[in-house]
Amino acid sequence: MPAPTRDEEAATAVSPSPERPSNFIRDIILEDLKTNKYNGRVQTRFPPEPNGYLHIGHAKSICINFGLAAEFGGHTNLRFDDTNPEKEEQEYVDSIIEDARWLGANWDDRMFYASDYFDQLYEWAVQLIKDGKAYVDDLDAEQVRKFRGSLTEPGKESPYRNRSIEENLDLFERMRAGEFPDGSRTLRAKIDMASPNLNMRDPVMYRILRATHHRTGDKWCIYPMYDFAHGQSDSLENITHSICTLEFEDHRPLYNWFIQQLGIFPSQQIEFDRLNLTYTLLSKRRLLQLVQEGRVRGWDDPRMPTISGIRRRGYTPEAIRNFCAAIGVSKTNGIIDLAMLEHFVREDLNKRAPRAMAVLRPLKVVIDNYPEGQVEELEVVNNPEDASAGTRKVPFSRVLYIEQDDFREQPPKKFFRLSPGTEVRLRGGYFITCKSVVKDDKGELVEVHCTYDPATRTGNAPDNRKVKATIHWVSAEHAIDAEVRAYENLFSKEDPGDVPEGHDFTENLNPNSLEVIADAKLEPSLATAHAGERYQFERLGYFCADLDSRPDALVFNRTVPLRDTWAKIEKRQQELR
Ligand code: ATP
Ligand code: MG
Repeated sequence: MPAPTRDEEAATAVSPSPERPSNFIRDIILEDLKTNKYNGRVQTRFPPEPNGYLHIGHAKSICINFGLAAEFGGHTNLRFDDTNPEKEEQEYVDSIIEDARWLGANWDDRMFYASDYFDQLYEWAVQLIKDGKAYVDDLDAEQVRKFRGSLTEPGKESPYRNRSIEENLDLFERMRAGEFPDGSRTLRAKIDMASPNLNMRDPVMYRILRATHHRTGDKWCIYPMYDFAHGQSDSLENITHSICTLEFEDHRPLYNWFIQQLGIFPSQQIEFDRLNLTYTLLSKRRLLQLVQEGRVRGWDDPRMPTISGIRRRGYTPEAIRNFCAAIGVSKTNGIIDLAMLEHFVREDLNKRAPRAMAVLRPLKVVIDNYPEGQVEELEVVNNPEDASAGTRKVPFSRVLYIEQDDFREQPPKKFFRLSPGTEVRLRGGYFITCKSVVKDDKGELVEVHCTYDPATRTGNAPDNRKVKATIHWVSAEHAIDAEVRAYENLFSKEDPGDVPEGHDFTENLNPNSLEVIADAKLEPSLATAHAGERYQFERLGYFCADLDSRPDALVFNRTVPLRDTWAKIEKRQQELR
């Protein structure tokens, strides 16, 4: 059964699941609906900066914004906060659109760019100058920083702070006209250099920057600062609930100040906790560094916590949404165990992934009493969790491959798989008993010889004798070869950012994060697997055909191994709190 296509997946909108726990943002919206604050309207937005690919942290924000609006019959805009032309690119815009859609976000025709508002923002800046609320400053960046003061010291007023309105208007217009070099002047809001909130100490609104913008080209040589664009963009789009992460809490008074001075629609900003995951870095700057330094194979490397990386690895949008629903939202930053994300992936794939047999590290097994040249088709269930998935035929013959791990010449205690003299069940069929082993000159195991019991084809013995293990296998003659890429955590440290002074987080990269198994053996039905199709390889884990996979050179990613104990994860999560 083929895995669902991207379109089918995208068709399932981001919507709240019935068991979703209550959260404080929902409570605020419910209260606003009760008091009719916005005439019953709920309008949110997801505002990425197109300076990198989306990651799992952004997925949390997408689920909150699109999920809550959908729950109350509202709408969510996608808005690119593209005020920093030096770091932004069309490639990022395109990837963000693709990844957000894949997660199930639907913004219809409501896709906007802060750069669409550059003319309006310029007019508003002029308005603030005319009102005596903004001035052109000749201090350079270094001096502005020095004058700013600190948390314990008030700032100092710039000597240019009290220029006349006429002079400010003239200088600002000439800034725009390109008369001054980059960085030589700024436009600043005239607020309060002694404010306990550093963001209120005459923040810069515009800087001079000759950089080609991915949408406005060279039209502008001055660009608004993020803080001068963000709140007004929300206002222009009539956003009711402007939901963002906690680090913007201290910026809220500034956004509100601009909105009040300009007398425009007051969006309500609400801050929530960023997602942090163990063994994972969620910062575009650092992810970019990994890509640029070639530490990974690109933004969509399956080890990356990017949406495109985990999609390529085989995660489903449903699993990510279920995870986001389960972690909830709060007002304090914490850290979530990566195992919890993996739990939701397993839970979802268990329901939808067809089963298949694959042997990663093959050991040859010869069934001595099985007729040479004979082939039987054994019927096996595609998915025990989903009767509608049906059954398929798997060829069985005299020579098989089993997993090296499933055989021990000298079995330790409690090892119930194959060993000399023991009998095990082959998945979907016969019982076999190990009779002898063959070794090469160096004493290395080459093949295992067994006999089978023809009366056990159904998987049970007529005399009711029991076996203690069932192992997977493939028929050697029919097996197809594949490369399997097995992934471990990208970082070996729980907090990858934890490095001594002067050291780089890349020192915490896990040298074993990618293991390439070149010669795995797969059952023949997998020959037609297309990139993105997901399977459970029996007893091993969930796997997904990679984008690199070709019919004559199959490549599978291991999405996640099978082991999972929810109780263990819960315990770990409590320890992290
Ligand atoms: P990064 O630190 O990774 O560069 P960012 O905050 O600069 O992230 P933006 O493109 O500005 O990235 O983010 C778009 C939206 O996603 C913002 O509203 C931001 O608050 C939210 N967001 C970013 N990272 C996380 C995270 N780890 N958890 C939850 N929301 C996040
Ligand atoms: Mg940001």
